[in-house]
Order: sequence, then C-alpha cells, then structure tokens
Amino acid sequence: MEFEKVKIDAHGKLSVPHQVVIPFIIGDGIGPDIWKASVRVFDAAIAKTYQGNRQINWLEVLAGEKAYNETGEWLPTKTLEVFKEYLVGIKGPLTTPIGGGIRSLNVALRKELDLYVCQRPTKWYEGVPSPVKHPERVDMVVFRENTEDIYSGIEFAAGTSEAKQLQDFLKNTLEVQYNFNNSTGLGLKLVSEEGTKRLVRSSIDFALAERRKSVTIVHKGNIMKFTEGAFKNWAYQVAEQEYGDQVYTWNQWEQTKAKAGVEVANAEQSKALADGKLLIKDIIADNFLQQILLAPQEFDVIATLNLNGDYISDALAAMVGGIGIAPGANINYKTGHAIFEATHGTAPRFADTDSMNPSSVILSGVMMLDYLGWNEAADAIVNAVAATIKQKTVTVDFYNLMTDASLLKTSEFADKIIEKL
Ligand code: NAD
Repeated sequence: MEFEKVKIDAHGKLSVPHQVVIPFIIGDGIGPDIWKASVRVFDAAIAKTYQGNRQINWLEVLAGEKAYNETGEWLPTKTLEVFKEYLVGIKGPLTTPIGGGIRSLNVALRKELDLYVCQRPTKWYEGVPSPVKHPERVDMVVFRENTEDIYSGIEFAAGTSEAKQLQDFLKNTLEVQYNFNNSTGLGLKLVSEEGTKRLVRSSIDFALAERRKSVTIVHKGNIMKFTEGAFKNWAYQVAEQEYGDQVYTWNQWEQTKAKAGVEVANAEQSKALADGKLLIKDIIADNFLQQILLAPQEFDVIATLNLNGDYISDALAAMVGGIGIAPGANINYKTGHAIFEATHGTAPRFADTDSMNPSSVILSGVMMLDYLGWNEAADAIVNAVAATIKQKTVTVDFYNLMTDASLLKTSEFADKIIEKL
C-alpha cells in the first residue's frame, strides 16, 4: 500500500490521499499517555468508518524533552522540515525550555510555518461539569490572530541601554509626552492590515462554509486606536469589500441609521438576516468577557487579536469543562500548513499516571480529520466521546465534579470511546 502526502493546489484546495502520512509529536509530561489513547481512537474510527479504504500512517517527529534527550536539540530542523513537507500534523503538549534559546517551542513552530490562525472551538458536551447555568448555550469558534500583536516578542527590559535608546527616540524624535524613567520596560504591539485581513478572511470563509450566523470582531479599539481600532476597521473593510452581498455589517447598519434613522436600519438588518446573510459585528473585549457569561448565545464565530484571543479561549474553555476538553488548531490557509494540538500544557506532575483526560487531543484530531475532509470519521468520534461522557464514564478531572460517575484511566476512557464508535 502506498502512503502519500497531503498536497495543496494553486487554488488553495487540499488533496488528501486515502493512504496518508501524518507526522505527530508525542509531547512531554502527560503527552505520551494521552497521545497513545487518542491515536487508538483515531485509527479505530477511520477503520470503522472507511472499512480499510482510508488509513493514516503516523510518522513520529521529535520535539521537546524527547528531542533534547535524543538529539541535544529542543526543536530539530528535521522536525520543521517534515511539517513543512507533509503540511498537516498533530502534536502533544511541549515543555517550555527554561533558560536561553527558544522561548517557546509552540511559538517557534507557529512562526516557522507562519500559522496565522489559531482556531479554537468551544462547545459543551452533555454531562460535562460546568460553572455556568447554561453551558449548552455556548457554541463558539475563536479565530485568534497568531503572529502579531504584543506577542511579536519585541521587548526591552527596564534599565537596559536598549530601553533607554528607545525612550530617547520616542521623547526626542517622535516628541512623545510620557514620563519615562529607568524602571520602564517597553514592548511593541504590532498589528498590520495584511495580518488582520488574512485572519478575518479565514473567519468569514469558515462562517460561510459552516452556515454560522455571525462573526464578531473583538477588540479594544476604544483605547488602542491604531492597533486594535485599526483591526476593527480593516475587518469591516475586508467583509464589505470582499464578501459584498454575502454579509451584512454593523458598519452598514450605522451608516443607514445616520442617514435614515434607527427603524430603517433595524429593518434593513432584519431583512439581510432573513435573506441568510452573515452578520459581521464588533464588541469591545471587556464587554465581550461580560457578555459571554450573560448571553453566550449571541456569539458564534469570533475574530480577534492575539492577546485577546488567548484570554478569551481560556475563559470560554472554562465555561464548557476546562482545558481537559479544549482542542485547537494552528493553520495557514494559504499554504495549507496546519498543526493540531490540545490547548493545555504538559501537566508534568501527572506524567505516566494514565489518569488525565485525553479529550483535548482527541477533539484536536477531530478538527484535523475535518480539515482533511474525513468528516464522517470526525463525526463518529464526536458522537462516541459525547456518549461516553453522557454515561458518566470519565477521567478524574470530570469525575471529581460529577455525582455518580465512574472513574476511568486515560486508556480505559479511550477503550469506552472505541466501544461506542
Ligand atoms: P498545564 O496545562 O500543563 O496544567 C495545568 C493543570 O491543568 C494541571 O495541573 C492539571 O490539573 C490540568 N490539566 C492539564 N491537562 C489536563 C488534562 N488533559 N486532563 C485533565 N487535567 C488537565 O499548565 P502548566 O502547569 O502551567 O504548564 C506545564 C508546562 O506545559 C509548562 O512547561 C508550559 O510551558 C507547558 N505548556 C505547553 C503548552 C503546549 O504545548 N501547547 C501549553 C501550555 C503550557
């Protein structure tokens, strides 16, 4: 049997062979336990769904502690080359090396492959313990910009000569009025038109393809006008200029309101939505964090900047059961490169205990199967995970918060899911 690579054509369409090679990083800490459980679920779902007509050949590549112990490098060049060549991969959590060199292996991978979208769906599964009254009202997909913002890493520590030089430049050349002193550290917040538009485009394409109701731009443009405010403006621009009749924006509503009054604007919006147009709206980030608790049903696809997206995806994850069940993907829709990963870390204290929840990796795999177009296998896994949780046969994180649940090990939880496929 020939195993082949995922490829992408000139129109950005993926072609996925039925016998495909997918590279994976096993991960550090709890990584090996949850990966071993998850991969059995993927293989069983694919075998059952496609009866041997499709198959993944898993190709292990090294990163993190395992790579360091075997090669002396945290992120070997070979690993990057394999991800570049095979386009789509999946990874377990990685330790962040302490000391100099690489700041974070995850950030390094995102940068190398220019994975500009961090996509994180948040949906509640029946029975999952939640701190909110109506977790079933939460069904959002966050598109977090993954390459810009204050995550660019351009920072100068207080007291250094670089910080002093930058302060002098700001004071003397740009005539910035600010009371700098020796104890002021500086960091740059970078937001570009190109970076914003490619992120927002991906979120609108996704919303249209999935027949979602709205895309909400989350920003702090009231305070940071030329970064977050510009993000909002470019987002509306891309929606109106590139999607025309397929969308209706709050920007259009504002313009109609100014010209013809609020009632006409409301009628225009109602008609647009009745006609099946996608609503593009915006909200200030602090209000958004309030509204997801008060009225989560008002939000669907979210397009936001890097830092906001970081906070928002953890807040949303908590509402539907926490990081044990929070999948994610880092994607470049132009090159096709994508790395799927759980959003939690290595939880080193629990390494080799066969006790942690593998759902985040399993659901990251579901996202990967959907990305590959193997939706039937993805759906089968989602249904089996949902049925397993509904029966209250769960790992310790959920067990501790449920009544009358049965406690399973990581491997046993995977067995239960496989039984239900
Ligand atoms: P963590 O996410 O590893 O763990 C925090 C707590 O969350 C754990 O103590 C555990 O109680 C719980 N938890 C995590 N995963 C779970 C699971 N699958 N099931 C049930 N409960 C789970 O965060 P941390 O302790 O701050 O970070 C540990 C290491 O992981 C650090 O080196 C950090 O840099 C790294 N990290 C890596 C990634 C990644 O690779 N994507 C993400 C975050 C942190």
